[in-house]
Amino acid sequence: MNPSEWFTEQAADTGTAFSLKIKQKLHEEQSEFQFLEIYETESFGNLMVIDGCTMVSTRDNFFYHEMMSHPALFTHPNPKRVWIIGGGDCGTLKEVLKHSTVEEAVQIDIDERVTRLAEIYFPELCESNNDPRAQLKFIDGIKWVKDAAPNSVDIIIVDSTDPIGPAQGLFSKAFYQDCFNCLSENGMVVQQSESALLHLKLIGEMRDAMGSAGFSHLQTLFFPQCLYPSGWWSATIASKTELSQFRELDSANKAFDTVFYNVDIHKAALAQPEFVKKAFSI
Ligand code: SAM
Repeated sequence: MNPSEWFTEQAADTGTAFSLKIKQKLHEEQSEFQFLEIYETESFGNLMVIDGCTMVSTRDNFFYHEMMSHPALFTHPNPKRVWIIGGGDCGTLKEVLKHSTVEEAVQIDIDERVTRLAEIYFPELCESNNDPRAQLKFIDGIKWVKDAAPNSVDIIIVDSTDPIGPAQGLFSKAFYQDCFNCLSENGMVVQQSESALLHLKLIGEMRDAMGSAGFSHLQTLFFPQCLYPSGWWSATIASKTELSQFRELDSANKAFDTVFYNVDIHKAALAQPEFVKKAFSI
């Protein structure tokens, strides 16, 4: 392949790569925190890349943004206060604000430039940014959670980059303990947890750290995401209270549009493959 015509993310540690044919590079810059690139692709619309890793494309972001938000929001009994740690492209924020129970949604991304670029190249993801319930903060999510008072929030969504660079601490027991301390009684964290095919060890370590931070109930959900390594991604929910059921009736009667999520997709995402059950003794 001619590298000037293709963007390729190499996941060297897993021996895999994913490519998209590009029309042109629209932008690149070194922000204070990371190297940001925007491409126009042949068939996936615009593509954001951070430090060489694909983050979001126009065509397939709905899988990730919907599955990072709706399963947790339809599991919590009455989610009013939601924080999104990372998520600077604003796609998860847009999905969270679709829930009428939500009174406050705060997005805390360390890098303001990600959001400013999303406003230009992914305006459809930013269309709810002026919702009066939304707040955008540009600081380190680790510090934000550490400094928060008890009972400040109902759901924390960790929509971060991979566990390297500024996101590394978002995958630690200390961070989950800080989350536990500022969550309300039925509070939960949901975090993107990579690919069960390629990163099973990481998911296991996350689940162990969440458990030892005090979260007694864990659930890993699976969904497609062709942009990310292996094309099969996951999110892990860590909750203070029972997770065996979600608000199925509310999900079935949801009063907003989605592209992927519905009540049957939610049920299907909860199904655990045999090798996952074996690895996590569930
Ligand atoms: N969907 C993407 C994925 O899984 O690859 C994540 C997209 S989102 C753009 C990731 C965001 O996490 C980036 O904007 C980055 O700035 C942010 N981030 C990384 N570390 C962070 C931290 N410690 N606090 C807040 N935001 C952080």
